[in-house]
Amino acid sequence: MLPIEVQRSATPKTRPAPEGLGFGKYFTDHMFRMDYSPERGWHQARILPHGPLGLDPGAAVFHYAQAVFDGSKVFRGKDGQLRAFRVLDHSKRLAASAERLAMPPVPPEVAREAIEALVKVDADWVPSAPGTSLYVRPVVMASEAFLGVRPADKYIFFIILSPVGSYFSGGAEPVRIWVEQQHTRAAPGGLGGAKAAANYAAGLQASVEAKKRGYAQVLWLDALEHRYIEEVGTMNLFVRIGDELITPPLDGTFLPGITRESVLTLLRDWGTKVSERKLSIDELREAHKKGELREVFGTGTAAVISPVGALGFQEGQLVIGDGKVGELSKRLYDTVTGIQYGTQPDRHGWMTLIK
Ligand SMILES: *Cc1c(COP(=O)(O)O)cnc(C)c1O
Repeated sequence: MLPIEVQRSATPKTRPAPEGLGFGKYFTDHMFRMDYSPERGWHQARILPHGPLGLDPGAAVFHYAQAVFDGSKVFRGKDGQLRAFRVLDHSKRLAASAERLAMPPVPPEVAREAIEALVKVDADWVPSAPGTSLYVRPVVMASEAFLGVRPADKYIFFIILSPVGSYFSGGAEPVRIWVEQQHTRAAPGGLGGAKAAANYAAGLQASVEAKKRGYAQVLWLDALEHRYIEEVGTMNLFVRIGDELITPPLDGTFLPGITRESVLTLLRDWGTKVSERKLSIDELREAHKKGELREVFGTGTAAVISPVGALGFQEGQLVIGDGKVGELSKRLYDTVTGIQYGTQPDRHGWMTLIK
């Protein structure tokens, strides 16, 4: 067990009302912090009041974007119990992301313990209204004040917590997605496979343009040919053609989502035909023409399953499944959230009870 010093906040905040939570607007009373130096490695694990980090403006993170993060959730079940979803898998991914950016990884067991210890301190911040949860955001970033270009030699690992609302107040509404044919998000050999802050910066301009056109998010195509489907916004993508469920294979250009992996596991449990294979935009249009394009949805921690109702192109749009939520999208959403809130059996050991 990691020794963690706890300094409690002297000025606890009032809890926000569950209806107005939204996503990432409120923070709990505490945060976790640990520091890295070449001499001491990761050291001084502590929980302290949520507040500024106190960084030098020369800190490498501000100049060369050496920063990675992750995101997972803790749920309060009907039974009052707190359950964290796949917290060790999220911690392993944080370590892998850090290594891709030449940063010292936080050992996954340490990150997991830190998350659980922090959630215990702020346990009464986990909301209980249906669809709400506590979002956990760990970050590793370079803190050394130095402008030479090389990996920094000082880092901070911190974790903050945010109570979040139901992504779909009033049921899942299919979203309209713009198929992006100019911008690219990540190229082969790049950072796409890591949850790097820089990937998000790369995608913002295209998402602003998509919103101006009346679309909620962007569908990213491969960087080389602009033909193959990769991700939707910051979610992994699944397409149902006839009875086959297709998702692109992990090739390092997009993130290995934990929701993606959970959905693949459930689909295989159910005996659904699933393929991890390349899918071109031409094949998608062809399937639509033949009336075989039945469902399209994104997967990610924030929304779990986000149904896509229409895909927009320069030349017009494809409406999917009459713009309604598909049968498998609904079943997957109900099953994953059932496991998370403890109303469905956790056959794969995804949940950790936090006591
Ligand atoms: C976080 C993220 C996802 C989804 O991953 P989950 O582990 O399912 O939350 C997908 N794509 C990108 C680019 C992401 O950053």
